Amino acid sequence: MLAELKRIVQEVNAMNDLRSSLDLLVQRVKDSMAVQVCSVFLWHAASERYVLMATEGLNKSGIGQVTLTREEGIIGLVGRREEPVNLADASAHPAFHFVSSLGEESLKAFMAAPIIHQRQLLGVLVVQSTANERFNENAEAFLVTMAAQLSGFIAHAQATGGLRQIGLNRHTDILNLRFDGVAGAPGIAIGEAWVVSSIELEDVPLFACEDIEHEIQQLDAAVAMVRSDIRRAGLAVESQLSLQEQALFDVYLGMLDEAALTGEVKEKIKEGFRADGALAEIIRGYSLHFAAMEDPYLRERATDIRDMGRRVLAYLQQDQKNPQALPDNAILVGDELTPAILGEFAGKQIAGIVSVKGSANSHIAIIARAMGIPTVMGVVDLPWKKLEGRELVVDGYRGHVYRDLSADKHQYFQQIVLEEQELAKGLESIRDLPCVTRDGYRLRLMVNTGLLTDVVRSQDKGAEGVGLYRTEVPFMMRDRFPTESEQADIYRQQLQGFAPMPVTMRTLDVGGDKSLPYFPISEDNPFLGWRGVRVTLDHPEIFLVQVRAMVRASEGLNNLRIMLPMLTQVSEVDQSLSLIKRVVTELQEEGLDVIMPQVGVMIEVPAALYQVAHYAKRVDFLSVGSNDLTQYLLAVDRNNSRVADLYDTYHPSVLQALHTLVLQAKQSQVPVSICGEFAGDPAGAVLLMAMGYDMLSMSSTSLLRVKALLRQVDYQWAKQLLEQVLQLESPQQVRACVEQSLQALGFADGFMSFTHGRLAPSA
Ligand code: PEP
Ligand code: MG
Repeated sequence: MLAELKRIVQEVNAMNDLRSSLDLLVQRVKDSMAVQVCSVFLWHAASERYVLMATEGLNKSGIGQVTLTREEGIIGLVGRREEPVNLADASAHPAFHFVSSLGEESLKAFMAAPIIHQRQLLGVLVVQSTANERFNENAEAFLVTMAAQLSGFIAHAQATGGLRQIGLNRHTDILNLRFDGVAGAPGIAIGEAWVVSSIELEDVPLFACEDIEHEIQQLDAAVAMVRSDIRRAGLAVESQLSLQEQALFDVYLGMLDEAALTGEVKEKIKEGFRADGALAEIIRGYSLHFAAMEDPYLRERATDIRDMGRRVLAYLQQDQKNPQALPDNAILVGDELTPAILGEFAGKQIAGIVSVKGSANSHIAIIARAMGIPTVMGVVDLPWKKLEGRELVVDGYRGHVYRDLSADKHQYFQQIVLEEQELAKGLESIRDLPCVTRDGYRLRLMVNTGLLTDVVRSQDKGAEGVGLYRTEVPFMMRDRFPTESEQADIYRQQLQGFAPMPVTMRTLDVGGDKSLPYFPISEDNPFLGWRGVRVTLDHPEIFLVQVRAMVRASEGLNNLRIMLPMLTQVSEVDQSLSLIKRVVTELQEEGLDVIMPQVGVMIEVPAALYQVAHYAKRVDFLSVGSNDLTQYLLAVDRNNSRVADLYDTYHPSVLQALHTLVLQAKQSQVPVSICGEFAGDPAGAVLLMAMGYDMLSMSSTSLLRVKALLRQVDYQWAKQLLEQVLQLESPQQVRACVEQSLQALGFADGFMSFTHGRLAPSA
């Protein structure tokens, strides 16, 4: 059954458009299950009706014509109950609704399964037979599995306008196509999509061009490059080929002649299109034409044409994909964007980021927040390959990406961009003021850094030091481990940039979702695997070099603090401490004027919560990594967009844990700070202050907003709010309570976290 299912799903997915896919689906399911009828009904939200979209066995003239309301027929029942039905005789069922035009008279057995994607009902898949008996269990399992497999495909078609092509959603989504993901970094960006990947011929749409002559020149240059590549390839193998075989290279080259492909592409360009789209369009036409030929030799030519097209396209796009050619308002779009990708565009202004995979706590999102780049993650239904050059609007507050916005919605977002620029300017005025509440409670605010540019950015925001320097970031942007002196240079810039304020450097925290291209770690469960200090203790040579570089860099500055990530055993602290002490002694023996830095541990794993006192007596400070602590407490992968709704630091259990931790740290008389993303959420910061955290460390973009809020509230009020919040049962209740309390004081939405920002229009 599994093989059969897989085969059908693959075939269906391989079709170019939804209409053909559904037609093929009903045909294959009918044959496979040996039934008389298979049909698909899809739910059309605008008309609030199910529409018959494809059938094999019923009268096909009903396709697109036969519709049912939510209340009508057994289809309506399946949709309402969201569970399958399996009936020996449909006509005997009270919900049966006879449609005379369909030709159902002789049919008896009826089985239907709802098509549901992410809790949303998309339609119903039905099979019918003339036998007067229920379908057996195997058949039921097959249909239910088929419907589940189909759901992602239909959701994707819906999101990409595929339903429109077959006549559904005609009036509703020609404009304002919205793709939903997870809010990654706050802010609104309006810009041009820059797809980060190799692009296939199928994915290059026709773009209008401004300068036809220029496009023709580009094409000629690309064709000339391909010609010379092919000639070179021909010469390289000449001696091994017969004359006849050598002639094949000439045939190949002939395809590029003016009289053949190139001429046609130029004609298309002259209609006003860019060279890449024109080329892709012509090649697509040719390859379809050849692929449909009877003669197997000619059919094979489709492959040659496509290969040739890809070669020319690669040269055309190379020109456009040069990172230096990135437009100012570029929105990076890709399947799985990583921090390393940002390295390629270093020094370039990136307006927004959209990633199909990943979640708000993926490291690219964290870095994007630090850089103030509006980001949406986990946009699973985004047709990302087809977006090159299109204008997108990224709503990093709500996790939405829009395409083809209507003029009024476009203007709405533009207005927000302007307002935000104004707000940022307004916040500048509190840059040099301390973070003190109205009733005089003083809290230190520091920044999380990773990139070199963070140093300047953080000083601009009036940070009081670095609470977390993610040293793995410079490691990720290289193709080998940086040497001790390379590391020392980078660390020195951080230490010098903030001196005499403290800089807390975390030792290399790779594993999980942070892998180094030159040190791959492949595991089934990376977040429960070889991560953080587990890796560096297994590789003391990496750890020792890094700590040497840190301590060397601190010479004469003495503002270094070292922090250890992902601890689950006190022995890990002991081992790390003894290595750090060894390094300091060695450097002192080498004549360097260095001191033993303060050393702290991150509390990121539930196990560490129960041993706070034991950690505390070994180290100088504790710092809570609430990103990982949330993930491990709630058993929710911080990168998985499917469970992103469940990842919530406002969860009462997480808040209780954060609170208990401070109380224990106070008892042990060790300072405790927090450097997870929760610290940068203004409302979260209020709760953390009330819990008693000594210092909050956050991305520089959050700092002024957090300070602005804390300066306008009373510490006593925050303590009362915390008391109230700690009584609540669910994250939703906590959020509502915090939100209402802030609103009662006159604060607007912008002071709730990035996942809870400003209201967007419901497009
Ligand atoms: C954390 O887990 O909260 C943290 C600050 O570390 P990272 O996000 O780099 O894992
Ligand atoms: Mg962490």
